[in-house]
Amino acid sequence: MFVFAPPAQTVIPVWGREKELFPVRRIFCVARNYADHAKELGEKNQAPTFFCKPTDAAFYISEKELGEVPYPSATQQLDYEVELAICIGKGGSDIAVQDARSHVWGWAVAIDFTRRDLHNQAKAAKGPWDSAKAFDFSAPIGSVRPVDKTIDPSETDLWLYVNNERRQHGNSRDMIYNCDELISEISKLWTLQPGDIILSGTPSGVGPVKPGDVIEAGVNGVGTIKFKMV
Ligand code: MN
Repeated sequence: MFVFAPPAQTVIPVWGREKELFPVRRIFCVARNYADHAKELGEKNQAPTFFCKPTDAAFYISEKELGEVPYPSATQQLDYEVELAICIGKGGSDIAVQDARSHVWGWAVAIDFTRRDLHNQAKAAKGPWDSAKAFDFSAPIGSVRPVDKTIDPSETDLWLYVNNERRQHGNSRDMIYNCDELISEISKLWTLQPGDIILSGTPSGVGPVKPGDVIEAGVNGVGTIKFKMV
């Protein structure tokens, strides 16, 4: 018996079939996966850098209503990063690039929220990124769009608006490591499992938000989310 109630399974509804739920296992993220974003951070391209967020950082935002996301503690600079999320349905290790797509169950739009002030301090100290990246509610995410219900998002636009002003606009074709390569690389380091989610990086234009701001983000053909910071 459990000594206290175990945590509820984090789930994300499936697009168009809201009674069907995608159970989240782990959240992998890649840093600097678009050259223009690496440049704005003043960093050079290199081998992919992966980090993780806890499962329950994934916070579902329905595309049917304005969501609310709590502004986190302990930061003066909370940056948005719009990203294409790869939702894994079939696990594996050492997955070949040409086989990677068969492991994808669906796609979603997500935000990789970052306490940029803590992120800059961590990078300067060569310390871990957890407090900058892996905090509560740090990954708002829309419904999971099954692979057979959408386009191949390898060459699609992703965008983000703050208070109706466009801040980010990029295209997934400009990823340094594309989705198939990310799946392959991550599977060399971890055995991927069904329910794992990979946030595939953000294009340029990242910047801060404050309580009261309304954020709208999307990946064309995959989904949109809209929420207010509270
Ligand atoms: Mn990111």
